[in-house]
Amino acid sequence: MTSQNLKIAIQKEGRMSEKSIELLKKAGLEFEIFDRSLASKCRNFPLEILFFRAQDIPEMIADDVVDCGICGQNTLAEKSLKLKEIEPLGFGKCRLSIAAPAKKLDLNGKKIATSHPALLKKFLNKNKIKAEIIELSGSVELAPKLKIADAICDLVSSGSTLKINGLFEVEEIFASQVILSAKAGIEKEKKEIFEKFLIRIRSVLTARKYKYVVMNAPIDSLEKIRNLIPGLKNPTVSPLINPKFISIASVVKEDRFWETIEKLKQCGATGILVLPIEKMIL
Ligand code: AMP
Repeated sequence: MTSQNLKIAIQKEGRMSEKSIELLKKAGLEFEIFDRSLASKCRNFPLEILFFRAQDIPEMIADDVVDCGICGQNTLAEKSLKLKEIEPLGFGKCRLSIAAPAKKLDLNGKKIATSHPALLKKFLNKNKIKAEIIELSGSVELAPKLKIADAICDLVSSGSTLKINGLFEVEEIFASQVILSAKAGIEKEKKEIFEKFLIRIRSVLTARKYKYVVMNAPIDSLEKIRNLIPGLKNPTVSPLINPKFISIASVVKEDRFWETIEKLKQCGATGILVLPIEKMIL
Protein backbone atom coordinates (compact mmCIF):
# COMPACT_ATOMS: atom_id res chain seq x y z
CA MET A 1 0.00 0.00 0.00
CA THR A 2 2.75 2.46 1.01
CA SER A 3 4.61 2.14 -2.29
CA GLN A 4 1.31 2.78 -4.08
CA ASN A 5 0.80 6.06 -2.32
CA LEU A 6 1.20 9.16 -4.42
CA LYS A 7 3.75 11.50 -2.86
CA ILE A 8 3.49 15.25 -3.06
CA ALA A 9 6.02 17.83 -1.86
CA ILE A 10 4.79 21.11 -0.45
CA GLN A 11 6.55 24.02 1.22
CA LYS A 12 7.17 23.49 4.93
CA GLU A 13 6.97 27.14 5.98
CA GLY A 14 6.53 30.34 4.06
CA ARG A 15 4.31 32.16 1.58
CA MET A 16 3.07 29.06 -0.27
CA SER A 17 2.65 26.71 2.66
CA GLU A 18 -0.75 27.75 4.02
CA LYS A 19 -2.42 28.06 0.63
CA SER A 20 -1.04 24.72 -0.53
CA ILE A 21 -2.51 23.00 2.55
CA GLU A 22 -5.81 24.85 2.08
CA LEU A 23 -6.04 23.67 -1.54
CA LEU A 24 -5.44 20.03 -0.57
CA LYS A 25 -8.02 20.24 2.24
CA LYS A 26 -10.58 21.91 -0.03
CA ALA A 27 -10.04 19.05 -2.48
CA GLY A 28 -11.44 16.80 0.25
CA LEU A 29 -8.12 15.30 1.38
CA GLU A 30 -8.10 14.58 5.09
CA PHE A 31 -4.79 14.82 6.94
CA GLU A 32 -3.23 16.32 10.05
CA ILE A 33 -0.07 18.35 10.31
CA PHE A 34 1.95 18.14 13.47
CA ASP A 35 4.73 20.56 14.30
CA ARG A 36 8.08 19.57 12.92
CA SER A 37 6.68 16.49 11.18
CA LEU A 38 8.30 15.81 7.82
CA ALA A 39 5.38 13.99 6.30
CA SER A 40 1.68 13.45 6.68
CA LYS A 41 -0.54 10.65 5.37
CA CYS A 42 -4.02 11.21 4.00
CA ARG A 43 -6.75 9.25 5.75
CA ASN A 44 -9.11 9.05 2.78
CA PHE A 45 -6.83 9.00 -0.28
CA PRO A 46 -3.56 7.18 -1.13
CA LEU A 47 -1.49 10.34 -0.76
CA GLU A 48 1.54 11.24 1.37
CA ILE A 49 2.43 14.88 1.85
CA LEU A 50 6.11 15.67 2.40
CA PHE A 51 7.31 19.06 3.59
CA PHE A 52 10.42 20.75 2.16
CA ARG A 53 12.03 24.13 1.62
CA ALA A 54 10.43 25.69 -1.48
CA GLN A 55 13.71 25.84 -3.41
CA ASP A 56 14.32 22.08 -2.90
CA ILE A 57 10.97 20.92 -4.27
CA PRO A 58 11.92 20.67 -7.99
CA GLU A 59 14.93 18.45 -7.14
CA MET A 60 12.76 16.26 -4.90
CA ILE A 61 10.50 15.59 -7.90
CA ALA A 62 13.40 15.10 -10.31
CA ASP A 63 15.13 12.69 -7.89
CA ASP A 64 11.92 10.63 -7.40
CA VAL A 65 11.66 11.40 -3.69
CA VAL A 66 8.12 12.54 -4.54
CA ASP A 67 5.88 12.17 -7.59
CA CYS A 68 4.75 15.77 -7.79
CA GLY A 69 5.09 19.04 -5.94
CA ILE A 70 3.67 22.50 -5.38
CA CYS A 71 6.21 25.24 -6.06
CA GLY A 72 6.73 28.59 -7.76
CA GLN A 73 7.14 28.68 -11.53
CA ASN A 74 10.22 30.83 -10.89
CA THR A 75 11.86 28.09 -8.78
CA LEU A 76 11.11 25.50 -11.42
CA ALA A 77 12.39 27.66 -14.29
CA GLU A 78 15.55 28.53 -12.35
CA LYS A 79 16.50 24.87 -11.98
CA SER A 80 16.07 23.85 -15.66
CA LEU A 81 15.15 20.28 -14.69
CA LYS A 82 12.97 18.27 -17.04
CA LEU A 83 9.72 18.70 -15.11
CA LYS A 84 6.23 19.42 -16.34
CA GLU A 85 3.99 22.27 -15.26
CA ILE A 86 0.78 20.34 -14.71
CA GLU A 87 -1.55 23.04 -13.40
CA PRO A 88 -1.23 26.72 -12.46
CA LEU A 89 -2.77 27.04 -8.99
CA GLY A 90 -3.74 30.72 -9.11
CA PHE A 91 -1.87 31.92 -6.02
CA GLY A 92 1.63 33.23 -5.24
CA LYS A 93 1.46 35.52 -8.25
CA CYS A 94 4.60 37.60 -8.57
CA ARG A 95 7.16 38.78 -11.10
CA LEU A 96 10.91 38.50 -11.28
CA SER A 97 12.10 42.02 -12.00
CA ILE A 98 15.28 43.99 -12.31
CA ALA A 99 15.19 46.98 -9.95
CA ALA A 100 17.62 49.80 -9.33
CA PRO A 101 17.97 53.00 -7.26
CA ALA A 102 17.05 54.97 -10.43
CA LYS A 103 13.99 54.66 -12.69
CA LYS A 104 16.20 54.01 -15.71
CA LEU A 105 19.52 52.24 -15.82
CA ASP A 106 21.78 51.00 -18.62
CA LEU A 107 22.60 47.54 -17.29
CA ASN A 108 25.74 47.14 -19.42
CA GLY A 109 28.82 46.89 -17.23
CA LYS A 110 26.73 46.87 -14.05
CA LYS A 111 26.60 44.38 -11.18
CA ILE A 112 23.18 42.76 -10.57
CA ALA A 113 22.49 40.84 -7.35
CA THR A 114 20.01 37.99 -7.49
CA SER A 115 18.94 34.63 -6.12
CA HIS A 116 17.76 33.72 -9.64
CA PRO A 117 21.08 33.66 -11.56
CA ALA A 118 19.90 31.29 -14.32
CA LEU A 119 16.80 33.30 -15.23
CA LEU A 120 18.77 36.54 -15.09
CA LYS A 121 21.55 35.11 -17.26
CA LYS A 122 18.99 33.98 -19.83
CA PHE A 123 17.50 37.49 -19.94
CA LEU A 124 20.92 39.19 -20.22
CA ASN A 125 22.06 36.84 -23.01
CA LYS A 126 18.81 37.24 -24.92
CA ASN A 127 19.10 41.02 -24.77
CA LYS A 128 22.88 41.03 -25.37
CA ILE A 129 23.51 42.86 -22.11
CA LYS A 130 26.94 42.43 -20.56
CA ALA A 131 26.45 42.63 -16.80
CA GLU A 132 28.00 40.83 -13.85
CA ILE A 133 25.71 38.53 -11.84
CA ILE A 134 26.23 38.54 -8.07
CA GLU A 135 24.51 35.48 -6.59
CA LEU A 136 22.88 35.98 -3.18
CA SER A 137 20.62 33.57 -1.31
CA GLY A 138 18.53 36.20 0.49
CA SER A 139 18.04 39.89 1.35
CA VAL A 140 18.77 40.72 -2.28
CA GLU A 141 17.06 44.10 -1.91
CA LEU A 142 19.87 45.32 0.39
CA ALA A 143 22.63 44.82 -2.20
CA PRO A 144 22.61 48.37 -3.74
CA LYS A 145 22.66 50.02 -0.27
CA LEU A 146 25.55 47.78 0.78
CA LYS A 147 27.35 48.66 -2.50
CA ILE A 148 27.48 44.97 -3.41
CA ALA A 149 25.63 45.64 -6.67
CA ASP A 150 24.21 48.46 -8.83
CA ALA A 151 20.87 46.72 -9.32
CA ILE A 152 18.95 43.66 -8.18
CA CYS A 153 16.84 41.00 -9.84
CA ASP A 154 14.25 39.77 -7.35
CA LEU A 155 10.66 38.63 -6.95
CA VAL A 156 8.15 41.44 -6.63
CA SER A 157 4.65 40.94 -5.35
CA SER A 158 3.12 44.12 -3.86
CA GLY A 159 6.22 46.19 -4.61
CA SER A 160 6.54 47.41 -1.02
CA THR A 161 9.98 45.81 -0.43
CA LEU A 162 11.35 47.76 -3.41
CA LYS A 163 9.71 50.96 -2.19
CA ILE A 164 11.06 50.61 1.36
CA ASN A 165 14.55 50.12 -0.05
CA GLY A 166 14.33 53.06 -2.49
CA LEU A 167 14.38 50.84 -5.58
CA PHE A 168 12.47 51.21 -8.86
CA GLU A 169 11.36 48.39 -11.12
CA VAL A 170 13.35 48.74 -14.34
CA GLU A 171 12.31 45.59 -16.19
CA GLU A 172 10.08 42.56 -15.56
CA ILE A 173 11.84 39.44 -16.80
CA PHE A 174 9.58 36.58 -15.68
CA ALA A 175 5.94 36.31 -14.54
CA SER A 176 5.31 33.60 -11.98
CA GLN A 177 2.68 31.88 -9.88
CA VAL A 178 2.48 28.69 -7.88
CA ILE A 179 2.03 25.53 -9.92
CA LEU A 180 1.61 21.80 -9.53
CA SER A 181 4.60 20.16 -11.13
CA ALA A 182 5.51 16.54 -11.89
CA LYS A 183 7.95 14.49 -13.93
CA ALA A 184 7.09 14.06 -17.60
CA GLY A 185 6.23 10.38 -17.04
CA ILE A 186 4.67 9.48 -13.73
CA GLU A 187 5.15 5.82 -12.66
CA LYS A 188 2.59 3.52 -14.28
CA GLU A 189 1.16 2.21 -10.98
CA LYS A 190 0.64 5.71 -9.66
CA LYS A 191 -0.74 7.27 -12.83
CA GLU A 192 -4.33 6.36 -12.01
CA ILE A 193 -4.03 7.81 -8.49
CA PHE A 194 -2.46 10.95 -9.93
CA GLU A 195 -5.34 11.37 -12.41
CA LYS A 196 -7.87 11.05 -9.55
CA PHE A 197 -5.84 13.52 -7.49
CA LEU A 198 -5.86 15.97 -10.42
CA ILE A 199 -9.65 15.73 -10.80
CA ARG A 200 -9.98 16.72 -7.13
CA ILE A 201 -7.56 19.64 -7.40
CA ARG A 202 -9.09 20.89 -10.65
CA SER A 203 -12.60 20.72 -9.18
CA VAL A 204 -11.54 23.26 -6.55
CA LEU A 205 -9.69 25.48 -9.03
CA THR A 206 -12.65 25.53 -11.44
CA ALA A 207 -15.12 26.23 -8.62
CA ARG A 208 -13.06 29.27 -7.57
CA LYS A 209 -13.71 30.85 -10.95
CA TYR A 210 -17.49 30.80 -10.52
CA LYS A 211 -20.30 31.84 -8.18
CA TYR A 212 -23.71 30.22 -7.94
CA VAL A 213 -26.46 32.79 -8.41
CA VAL A 214 -30.20 32.47 -7.68
CA MET A 215 -32.64 35.29 -8.47
CA ASN A 216 -36.25 36.14 -9.13
CA ALA A 217 -37.05 37.83 -12.44
CA PRO A 218 -40.01 38.82 -14.63
CA ILE A 219 -40.85 35.90 -16.95
CA ASP A 220 -40.52 38.07 -20.06
CA SER A 221 -36.87 38.89 -19.24
CA LEU A 222 -35.81 35.23 -19.36
CA GLU A 223 -34.18 35.36 -22.79
CA LYS A 224 -32.17 38.49 -21.94
CA ILE A 225 -31.05 36.98 -18.63
CA ARG A 226 -30.19 33.69 -20.30
CA ASN A 227 -27.80 35.51 -22.61
CA LEU A 228 -26.17 37.25 -19.66
CA ILE A 229 -25.61 34.04 -17.70
CA PRO A 230 -25.12 31.15 -20.07
CA GLY A 231 -24.37 28.99 -17.00
CA LEU A 232 -22.75 25.65 -17.47
CA LYS A 233 -25.18 24.61 -20.19
CA ASN A 234 -28.58 26.01 -19.27
CA PRO A 235 -29.84 27.94 -16.26
CA THR A 236 -32.39 26.23 -14.02
CA VAL A 237 -35.77 27.98 -14.24
CA SER A 238 -38.50 27.35 -11.64
CA PRO A 239 -42.02 28.78 -11.46
CA LEU A 240 -43.05 31.08 -8.60
CA ILE A 241 -46.49 31.63 -7.03
CA ASN A 242 -46.77 34.89 -8.97
CA PRO A 243 -47.09 33.59 -12.58
CA LYS A 244 -45.42 36.71 -13.99
CA PHE A 245 -42.19 35.86 -12.18
CA ILE A 246 -39.72 32.98 -12.27
CA SER A 247 -36.73 31.90 -10.22
CA ILE A 248 -33.48 31.46 -12.15
CA ALA A 249 -30.39 29.65 -10.88
CA SER A 250 -27.09 29.52 -12.69
CA VAL A 251 -23.36 30.13 -12.40
CA VAL A 252 -21.58 33.41 -13.08
CA LYS A 253 -17.88 33.79 -13.82
CA GLU A 254 -16.02 35.43 -10.95
CA ASP A 255 -14.03 37.74 -13.24
CA ARG A 256 -17.24 39.18 -14.74
CA PHE A 257 -19.28 38.96 -11.58
CA TRP A 258 -20.17 42.60 -10.74
CA GLU A 259 -20.64 43.54 -14.36
CA THR A 260 -23.10 40.64 -14.75
CA ILE A 261 -24.98 41.45 -11.53
CA GLU A 262 -25.51 45.07 -12.67
CA LYS A 263 -26.90 43.87 -16.01
CA LEU A 264 -29.16 41.35 -14.26
CA LYS A 265 -30.63 44.16 -12.14
CA GLN A 266 -31.26 46.19 -15.28
CA CYS A 267 -33.25 43.20 -16.61
CA GLY A 268 -35.48 43.34 -13.52
CA ALA A 269 -33.81 40.62 -11.44
CA THR A 270 -34.45 40.97 -7.69
CA GLY A 271 -33.56 39.03 -4.53
CA ILE A 272 -30.25 37.96 -6.06
CA LEU A 273 -28.54 35.38 -3.86
CA VAL A 274 -24.86 34.65 -4.44
CA LEU A 275 -23.25 31.48 -3.12
CA PRO A 276 -19.69 30.19 -3.31
CA ILE A 277 -19.16 26.87 -5.08
CA GLU A 278 -17.02 24.36 -3.25
CA LYS A 279 -16.21 21.98 -6.07
CA MET A 280 -17.07 21.89 -9.74
CA ILE A 281 -16.55 18.86 -11.98
CA LEU A 282 -17.12 19.62 -15.65
P1 AMP B 1 6.67 42.51 -1.97
O1 AMP B 1 7.21 43.50 -0.95
O2 AMP B 1 5.25 42.12 -1.68
O3 AMP B 1 6.85 43.02 -3.39
O4 AMP B 1 7.51 41.17 -1.83
C1 AMP B 1 8.86 41.17 -2.14
C2 AMP B 1 9.64 40.27 -1.23
O5 AMP B 1 9.00 39.05 -1.04
C3 AMP B 1 10.99 39.92 -1.84
O6 AMP B 1 11.90 39.67 -0.79
C4 AMP B 1 10.71 38.68 -2.62
O7 AMP B 1 11.86 37.86 -2.77
C5 AMP B 1 9.63 38.01 -1.80
N1 AMP B 1 8.57 37.43 -2.63
C6 AMP B 1 7.57 38.11 -3.26
N2 AMP B 1 6.74 37.27 -3.90
C7 AMP B 1 7.20 36.04 -3.66
C8 AMP B 1 6.78 34.73 -4.03
N3 AMP B 1 5.69 34.53 -4.78
N4 AMP B 1 7.50 33.68 -3.61
C9 AMP B 1 8.59 33.87 -2.84
N5 AMP B 1 9.06 35.05 -2.45
C10 AMP B 1 8.38 36.13 -2.85
